[in-house]
Amino acid sequence: MIQFHCPCCATLMIFPRTKMGTSFYCPRSGARLTVPDHARICHSEDWLERWTPWEMLVFITRLATGRKLRLLACGCCRLCGVADDLPELAALLQLTEHLADQEECRADLLAAHARVSRTERGPPGDAEGWLTQAGRAMVRCTMLSDARLAAGATFHHALHTHGTLRSATREKLRGLLFEIFGNPFTPVALEPACMAWQGGKVRTMAQQIYAERAFRELPILADALEEAGCEQAGLLAHLRAAQTHLRGCWALDLLLTLPAQTV
Ligand SMILES: [Zn+2]
Ligand SMILES: [Zn+2]
Repeated sequence: MIQFHCPCCATLMIFPRTKMGTSFYCPRSGARLTVPDHARICHSEDWLERWTPWEMLVFITRLATGRKLRLLACGCCRLCGVADDLPELAALLQLTEHLADQEECRADLLAAHARVSRTERGPPGDAEGWLTQAGRAMVRCTMLSDARLAAGATFHHALHTHGTLRSATREKLRGLLFEIFGNPFTPVALEPACMAWQGGKVRTMAQQIYAERAFRELPILADALEEAGCEQAGLLAHLRAAQTHLRGCWALDLLLTLPAQTV
């Protein structure tokens, strides 16, 4: 991937290397541009230190699956606390997270979504707090059929509507991107023997934690993984980190997707 700034509006542009020399329109200024031949290649330090959360999002939407982007959108709502005091919105978020894994259930889930949405709404004309309305709109964005749009829209909400603590919000978003994607420049490979250990115990534990959202048990999973012979310090440290973990957590996802066959 390569990066350069739009000469008209200075927005960071990120493209696959194969796009060098092709023309496009800047989504912000509308200027017709050509992807320069001398554009800088994207590096790990850009992701870890240089980019703003928005720029990180632009980069990651070029690589991420729809599932990850939808979970990112849900995480964004959780991070803003929009569902904390509203069981109705919490239920909608859970449904959307389910949608990320079960895209084929889309119609059923949308129907359930509409039902939940209707039942707990106050009488017509009832003055609803502005933040509640904003939260509702934000959660609705997570359901957009295009997962890339869902992630972009919730990010926009987080930065603008819930941006009362701007710099804090930016840091939280950065943390969220690290939680879901880790460092995309240094993929972690796990020794296959770890997944085969005790008949695939690590995988079973990971599946249970994911299904029950029992993220508090991730350090126990890390212990098991270490016992299984894992020497990936970064992976173990992430599972043990006392931070908020969510569906889509890169470390848990890694354990969920690796085959549990014997070596
Ligand atoms: Zn521009
Ligand atoms: Zn995590």
